[in-house]
Amino acid sequence: EQDVTEYRKTLAIRVSGFDVPKPIKSFADCGFSNVLTNAIAKQGYERPTAIQCQALPIALSGRDIIGIAKTGSGKTAAFVLPMIVHIMDQPELKKEEGPIGIICAPTRELAHQIYLEAKKFAKPHGIRVSAVYGGMSKHEQFKELKAGCEIVVCTPGRLIDMLKMKALTMLRTTYLVLDEADRMFDLGFEPQIRSIVGQIRPDRQTLLFSATMPRKVERLARESLTDPVRVTVGEIGM
Ligand code: ADP
Ligand code: MG
Repeated sequence: EQDVTEYRKTLAIRVSGFDVPKPIKSFADCGFSNVLTNAIAKQGYERPTAIQCQALPIALSGRDIIGIAKTGSGKTAAFVLPMIVHIMDQPELKKEEGPIGIICAPTRELAHQIYLEAKKFAKPHGIRVSAVYGGMSKHEQFKELKAGCEIVVCTPGRLIDMLKMKALTMLRTTYLVLDEADRMFDLGFEPQIRSIVGQIRPDRQTLLFSATMPRKVERLARESLTDPVRVTVGEIGM
């Protein structure tokens, strides 16, 4: 226990919440399949970043997370890798409809970066990722969603449009990521985010990442997450 406290200190990690899983020291501690381990190696990721060391074991244990860490700290893999594990754990993977995992991001550019990263880990597993943000016609997007996927990476507005068009259902969605939550609020997406969260089954796992934690974001986290573990890496401004 003393070792864990020391190790967190060296990574500048602070945690709060009950029964917080221990941080890992290497990807080998995650119990990933060979396919996922190879995909990580192919990316050239040799060891987990600080946020990954603490967020991976939390997310893999099924817990909700509030993750606060600055840009460039490796948050994408911290939520995508456990999402892949979560999806591969589902029985009858392709027999049912609609995404299992949904990732919301504030802008098309950020969503696209996540889409590219998610595809690298999803593809070797035969997991399909759909991009739901501006840049593709709504008609094309509709068709792609109708064809089926396990992961959707979206901006909130475009996902709402697709839900209204009945391009997808979120009935089997059990893993929700709200990335850069503070920026989504800055851009005025709070109503859309609340609508999306409200339409996803309450027994989902929810992961919220943000560079800062303004009060509005804090309130959403308190209302939308269940017994979250809060992880902060480094110094964070308000
Ligand atoms: P954030 O979302 O925190 O801003 P990203 O997930 O976009 O950060 O990651 C930033 C960069 O670090 C990306 O180029 C990503 O490929 C790389 N990266 C992520 N995890 C690792 C790792 N464990 N080892 C090396 N590079 C990594
Ligand atoms: Mg990011």
